[in-house]
Amino acid sequence: MIGCNTREMDFGSVVGQDLIKDSLRDAVQRHRLPHALLFLGKTGHGTLAGALALARYIMCENRSATDACGNCSNCHKSAKLIHPDIHFTYPTLGAKMTSLDFIVQWRQFVLENTYREVQDWFAFNNAENKQGNITALECARVLKNLSLKTFEGNFKIHITWMAEYLAKQANRLLKIIEEPPQNTFFIIIAENQDRILNTIISRCQLVSFPPINDEELIRALQDGMDSLDQQWATQVGFLSSGDMAKALTLVKAPEQVQAGQWLTWMRLVYKGSGIEMKEWADAFAKMDKESQKGFIQYGLFFLREMTLSKLNPSHQVRLLEKEKAALIKLQQLIDLASIQEVIDLVEGLIFHLERNANARILMLDASIQMHYLLRNNIHHVADIKSLSK
Ligand SMILES: [Zn+2]
Repeated sequence: MIGCNTREMDFGSVVGQDLIKDSLRDAVQRHRLPHALLFLGKTGHGTLAGALALARYIMCENRSATDACGNCSNCHKSAKLIHPDIHFTYPTLGAKMTSLDFIVQWRQFVLENTYREVQDWFAFNNAENKQGNITALECARVLKNLSLKTFEGNFKIHITWMAEYLAKQANRLLKIIEEPPQNTFFIIIAENQDRILNTIISRCQLVSFPPINDEELIRALQDGMDSLDQQWATQVGFLSSGDMAKALTLVKAPEQVQAGQWLTWMRLVYKGSGIEMKEWADAFAKMDKESQKGFIQYGLFFLREMTLSKLNPSHQVRLLEKEKAALIKLQQLIDLASIQEVIDLVEGLIFHLERNANARILMLDASIQMHYLLRNNIHHVADIKSLSK
């Protein structure tokens, strides 16, 4: 597995989030764990990893103060996601489906890596563009499951991943969440609080997962990949803003390419040579879609850092030395309003690329506009029209 050792499904494999881990462990040890928890935050912040670790910790027959033992029969089963008293609900495809219909794929998906987004889950099931849901049938299955006796021990745990997909079906679960059977724990995971019914939120203890801090994320990346270049790990750590799912995607990109390309572009649009801009647009058009997007994402990150640095001179710029030096030089040339215009311009690139606009023309046009923004000389845009011929 790239990036982090999540196969163990224990607290040790949850990256960072020490405060949350401490309070959960403490609550279990003191038998004070609330019966319904809402883990709120990106999967990339560790909500699913945290839920799996907590479930394993609750089930373990021989837990220590810090983690599950890893050796008892419950630990073995929970690590393989086959514990009969740990149940899962997650979005599936098709109106008549339940999560059980996808359990084989689910185990495979989660065992590969617990830091993945819901879009990855749909892609894993070859359904990139389909709308998933958690069905009424699945809710009925949950209610039935939880009414049965436990198989192995004292506890029953129900983990719902991406509760947003419950939509109104969540009403079917309100009663059982409010008055769960004895020794039953609900761990409900969601990324977007606005898409969860208030009636659910009010019945749960909220646990917010903030972004993972840079240092811990970078260390986890390096621990998981022996050959990972330190500089590149640091750059990815900064770029992914505490989101491990994002980091694991980014880390596969060719080293330093995006940063290098972005600085090249900035330099040449500032200079404003028509020939160079044309060559660059040609090169950009030849990149694959992912690389084009990666380039733009990097650019937006760079510009956000520039905004922060401009607003607050003591802001610690999260870039490597070379890029940081370029940022400092560049920000002296451009005011805040113009940076915002550049951001709008770059965001426009993504918008149009996703709609399959001609990448060459798009990039050439953006380069010309950018030149005038950097030179703060917007009145002359008309003169430069000849360049694009
Ligand atoms: Zn154990």
